[in-house]
Amino acid sequence: MHLYKERSYDRVIWLLPGKEWTMFTNVNSNISYDLFGQGEINVDAWAAICAHHNIDPHQPVLMLPHGKTTTAGGQKISRILWEVRKLYFYQVVDTIGQLWSASRISTIDELPSGLPMTRIISFGECNVSCPYCKRDCQFRDDDGEVIVSILVPLSQVLAGCVGAHSRGEIVRFSGGDPVMFRRETEAIAEYLAAVHGTKVSIAHNGSGTSWVKRLLPNLSSAAIDLKAVPEKIGMVMGIKSEQGQAMYTRSLATQAVVSQGGALLDVRTPVFGTTSTDEMRRLAYDICRVNDLRYTFWTWRLYKAVQGCDWEVAEKDRVIEQMQRVSAEFPDLWLGIRAKWQRGGMEYLRAGRVIDHSADAEAGYDAEIGSGNQAILAPG
Ligand code: SF4
Repeated sequence: MHLYKERSYDRVIWLLPGKEWTMFTNVNSNISYDLFGQGEINVDAWAAICAHHNIDPHQPVLMLPHGKTTTAGGQKISRILWEVRKLYFYQVVDTIGQLWSASRISTIDELPSGLPMTRIISFGECNVSCPYCKRDCQFRDDDGEVIVSILVPLSQVLAGCVGAHSRGEIVRFSGGDPVMFRRETEAIAEYLAAVHGTKVSIAHNGSGTSWVKRLLPNLSSAAIDLKAVPEKIGMVMGIKSEQGQAMYTRSLATQAVVSQGGALLDVRTPVFGTTSTDEMRRLAYDICRVNDLRYTFWTWRLYKAVQGCDWEVAEKDRVIEQMQRVSAEFPDLWLGIRAKWQRGGMEYLRAGRVIDHSADAEAGYDAEIGSGNQAILAPG
């Protein structure tokens, strides 16, 4: 671990029609950052790839810190690249990298190295503004505090990615949204492929179809948002409602690039108290229509109440019932929802029923969600 002192930067302000958005960077705050576990980079190879993408190897990119900024000796310190996440749906991925075509899941012990671990590379900008994610100041934490984005030289981000690879982790570009740093992410992905022979993962809102197409050769998996039906997606993503259909269509196109290209696809949909079964049925129809289901998983994410956003929280049991109904109508599509009580962190559904790895499930037993324990679903 290294501690880097960062100089002050101006805050970034840009205008959207009818709204001024402000990105808080480390303006006058003299924030240092603690960048997790860096590896050695091949400077010449990196310079050549950057030249190809017409970027400076050391140009700063905005990164979101993980957790609270701490203070030590009067100095504020943010933790960068400290977050890891498991790829939860891997219990339905078979040995040749496709999803099980039968209604069965692997136990964690059956997976060669357990659930794959991703190192989350959180970029600090996004091209949309979902009200439950950012309000006025791009990003806030659970307490409503503005999360200050930190400018970090790209070469240091790459070094963090190399370190992640050396620890057996998968680099996952996330955010914010990595689509805001297209050339930078393409360059890092190319470097990791060329120098280390490894692929990356992305978590993306679906808007960058051509960017994902360019990344595809170096992509092992992608989480792509499909946040709502066309008439609601604009509201959910904080864009004009008349742009909703285009955003919806783009997400489907982006999904198709991933799954038809043979990379694992995790479509992610937030579920609110007002989300109807019919809406989810329509999403299921389109997901199945455009994607190769051998590579496609669909995660329902329960909306967790956010300060300043009065959207209704969905009732977990009702959502599970909705999932069973939709799953029954689209029996070839794997569905999942985060479930803390499951060891792998995910409850799986297929062909209308919850799939357990027990013999009972194989025999067609419909497990009752949450039965016999006090567990609650993990926030989406
Ligand atoms: S797409 Fe993701 S990062 Fe961007 S505003 Fe929405 S929730 Fe936040």
